[in-house]
Amino acid sequence: MRASKDVLADLAKGQRPYATIVGCSDSRVAPELLFDAGLGDLFVIRVAGSLMSPEVFGSVQYAGTYLGVQLVMVLGHDGCGVVKAALAARCQGARERARIQTLLQRVLPGLADVDPRLSSSEQMAQAVEANVRWSMRQLLETAEGRARLAQGKMKLVGAVYETATGRVRLLA
Ligand SMILES: [Zn+2]
Repeated sequence: MRASKDVLADLAKGQRPYATIVGCSDSRVAPELLFDAGLGDLFVIRVAGSLMSPEVFGSVQYAGTYLGVQLVMVLGHDGCGVVKAALAARCQGARERARIQTLLQRVLPGLADVDPRLSSSEQMAQAVEANVRWSMRQLLETAEGRARLAQGKMKLVGAVYETATGRVRLLA
């Protein structure tokens, strides 16, 4: 993707992204490509598992405070490797290498209600959604998140990207 000289000159003056996206690092889930967005359109925070950490919170806060971004989307996707590993840790006691384990620790609390009686593919689908909702809940539970929401300065949405169809499904 190459931007025209006019667009580049405009972007050199500053950015006005219309949304912040907290998404997964998975190579199949690049938000700019999924949403057909150009340079300057999206403020994207990607971390394996679309999870919340202090750095992710800080990045969302930066976009809201300094760039005036009001729309925040947490974007998960089917077949997410981190969610899968977290499920394996929860159900089979599987252990990952220490740094990966750090990721799982942030994801696991959100999977508490995944029903172990479901088939593994159903558990996975439930876990992917639960993980998005868990990240959303953590954003909402900050004092700033609550305040911005109350002032109508933040709209938070959750979505799951379906890798097979290329569709982004918004969570109700
Ligand atoms: Zn993923």
